[in-house]
Formats: sequence, structure tokens, C-alpha cells
Amino acid sequence: MLNVILCGAPGSGKGTQSDLLVKNYGLQHLSTGDLLRAEIKSGSQLGKQIEDLIAKGNLVSDHTMIHLIENFLDNLSPDCKGIIFDGYPRTVDQAEALTLMLKRRKMNAVMLDMYVDEDEIIKRLLERGKVSGRTDDNFETIKQRLKVFHEVTKPVCYYYLTRHNYFAINGNNTVENTFAQIDTILKLVQK
Ligand code: ADP
Repeated sequence: MLNVILCGAPGSGKGTQSDLLVKNYGLQHLSTGDLLRAEIKSGSQLGKQIEDLIAKGNLVSDHTMIHLIENFLDNLSPDCKGIIFDGYPRTVDQAEALTLMLKRRKMNAVMLDMYVDEDEIIKRLLERGKVSGRTDDNFETIKQRLKVFHEVTKPVCYYYLTRHNYFAINGNNTVENTFAQIDTILKLVQK
């Protein structure tokens, strides 16, 4: 299996590159943001709590997230070629939990860290906000999401870096150029 963790600030292009990975590598896309938005849509009690956190640009609890991922892995189809973790892990505790969950299933994963300049990120998210209908794509919430990213999520990159399981991608590029970098790395990883 080829399991890929996509890390990067909000608006760094994780969703776009995930679509290309699905198309070119046949991987299964796990977007925690999409899963959480589906939970909100279901109208459940948990969904209501999540809605409030997301609207403020804060993270959902590690406990909830780890449970969600464990559940996803338990229901994985036996012919799954690999998973794209898009939006998970976002904290070091989530990363440690993922290492254990994968180890128990004799699986592993590589991290691709997508770097994009902050002014470009803000521009992209504000642009997306005009059509996405997402409550968190507004200037105030974007600022908070970026703060959380730098303080809480960036250390996750170093977690993988110190485990020699980390690759940096320059996302200040066209979609094609960014995917070309990913493609080169994944071909080498699979050798
Ligand atoms: P983006 O990458 O643009 O911030 P996502 O769709 O990945 O958007 O996530 C939207 C929101 O969902 C996050 O701001 C956060 O509140 C919540 N979320 C998603 N994944 C996680 C996670 N692994 N841990 C905690 N909260 C999460």
C-alpha cells in the first residue's frame, strides 16, 4: 500500500493534489474536513459541537479525530491501494496515534509537506470563500486557522522529519508543476 499524508496550511492545495493522486495512483482520499462537514450536515449533537469549532477556526478534539480515523481504517476495503490522509494528523498527539494505528495493521505512510507563501494562501482562501459557501473562508477565521496551523500543526512535520519519513513540496507553483514534484517523490519511494 502507498499511504500518503498531505500536510500544508489551509489553502495550500491539498484537496487539488489529492484529486490528482486519486486519478493517477488510484488511492483513496480521506479528507477529515469533508468527513466533519458531513457530520455537521447530519444534524447530530456531535455535528453541532464541530460546527462551532470549525466556524471559529479551531481544531476538533484529538479524541474525536482519532476515533474517526480508527473507524475509517476498520472499514477499509481489502483492495484499497493506499490512502491519502488529507487534514490528518493535525497535532503531534494525532500523529503518534496514527503511527500506532498503522503499525497495528502493518501499514506505514510518508508525509508530503506542501509549502505555500502566506500572502498567496490568503488570496486563494478569500477567492475560494466567494464560491465555497464555507463559514471558515473569511478573513478573521483564515487568520485563526493559520495561527493554529503554525503553532499546532507545523510540529507534526518535524515529527515525520525526525523519523526520516518527510518530503517537502514547493506549492508556490502551478497545479501541474506541484503534482510533478509529488509524482517524482512517490515513484522513488515505491522503488
Ligand atoms: P483547511 O485545510 O482548508 O483548513 P479542512 O477542510 O481540512 O480545511 O478542515 C476544516 C476544519 O475542520 C479545520 O479548520 C478544523 O477545524 C477541522 N479539522 C479537520 N481536520 C482536523 C483534524 N485532524 N484535527 C482537528 N480538527 C480538524
